Amino acid sequence: MTGLATDGGLYVPEYLPQFPEDLITSWSSLTYEELAFKVMYPFVEDNIDEISFQRILDKSYAKFRDTSIAPLKQFDEKNWILELFHGPTLAFKDFALQFLGNLLDHIVGSKNEKLVVLGATSGDTGSAAIEGCKDCRNIDVFILHPHNRVSDVQRRQMTTINKSNIHNIAISGNFDDCQAIVKKSFSEQEFLRGERRLIAVNSINFARILAQIVYYFWSYLRINCPKEGIIFSVPTGNFGDVFAGYIALGMGLPIKKLIVATNSNDILHRCINNNDHSPREVNASLAPSMDIMISSNFERLLFDAFERDSSKIRELMEKVTNSSIQLSERSILSIRDNFWSYRCDDREIVSTIKSFYKKNNYLLDPHTAIGVSASMAYEDDAGIPIVTLSTAHPAKFPDVSKYTNLLTPELPEHLKSILLDEEYYSIVDNCQNRVESFISKKLFT
Ligand SMILES: *Cc1c(COP(=O)(O)O)cnc(C)c1O
Repeated sequence: MTGLATDGGLYVPEYLPQFPEDLITSWSSLTYEELAFKVMYPFVEDNIDEISFQRILDKSYAKFRDTSIAPLKQFDEKNWILELFHGPTLAFKDFALQFLGNLLDHIVGSKNEKLVVLGATSGDTGSAAIEGCKDCRNIDVFILHPHNRVSDVQRRQMTTINKSNIHNIAISGNFDDCQAIVKKSFSEQEFLRGERRLIAVNSINFARILAQIVYYFWSYLRINCPKEGIIFSVPTGNFGDVFAGYIALGMGLPIKKLIVATNSNDILHRCINNNDHSPREVNASLAPSMDIMISSNFERLLFDAFERDSSKIRELMEKVTNSSIQLSERSILSIRDNFWSYRCDDREIVSTIKSFYKKNNYLLDPHTAIGVSASMAYEDDAGIPIVTLSTAHPAKFPDVSKYTNLLTPELPEHLKSILLDEEYYSIVDNCQNRVESFISKKLFT
């Protein structure tokens, strides 16, 4: 449940459950929820009984609009797309945040505790967290977004939810300001008067990663367990989604390569490709959910690449935001065993959306287009199936149609009304004290 450890590091499992290949293949007729149980239960078996956990999973995927939860589509002999956007907010983050909401509800429900979920969002995380927690009676949710700096659809997905436990705060500042306020709040918890526990919903929360491991197994099973293994291409920002693939690999899934697909904010590509992990300004791309400078979950991979030497990682992480870090030859090679990377700029996003549409009559969202570009560029291992994770529905990012000259897809029926509904949010100054007193006023009066 805790994001950051007290020493500033991140939590990782001490060891991973191991699934032999014949056990994995025996799961091919399971539903998504049943498979999720097999994959995730070993991580929580000391804390949650089987029946409750299956109930949490069933609830978590009940709001998905596709009966198979995560449909897999084939485009040619070896290229597939895994559609992860059929959840309530049209991005893959629903897989983790629907689960997290139900998990938190279960935990507090049995203890009669009250929680405060706090998060900053540049777009997709906030709405997914709100959707995941809006029906949880013991959880209050506060989501900070930069005022006037998220898209209309993204903001309305958060602000049209009219519930007394959901609080949207538009900060007069940018995303980094929001994130800084959230981070500081965790060290200044007096404003909660010791009565509530504060929970972070950003992607370093391991429960989120856990839920994302499942669809790697799911894809392999849906393609009939290819003997030669499988490759995944993952549009990457904070490195949470692709890290879940790395865990699946560690649990025994025969993944031949994980492709880290980045936009023009390409620090991960530079690092994996040239051992150049030097921070640069973040620029606004057509794939805004991946506009990130330092990917928090990359630290978890580096931990393994440095043979789990905590003190080395701590040294490295102290420098990571302000200066370039250098990995040893050995660490870089161990990363390249499992990962390959690719950078796709805005021009290529647009050309990929256009050519893919022309060839397949299928509209990619800008994030997925980056994943598809990367799979096309990956040339080794001819014949091994490549699954690109489709992380968002194209209707969520209508602005790209200006550049592609393709029609803007319509929002699914259940979201159309948000364009007209009344919005509920408060604008608060970019100031730690103002935000904290806003929160305590909402909670205690
Ligand atoms: C969050 C997000 C990503 C990046 O995922 P990470 O786990 O942060 O690497 C990619 N695409 C979309 C649409 C997202 O919302």
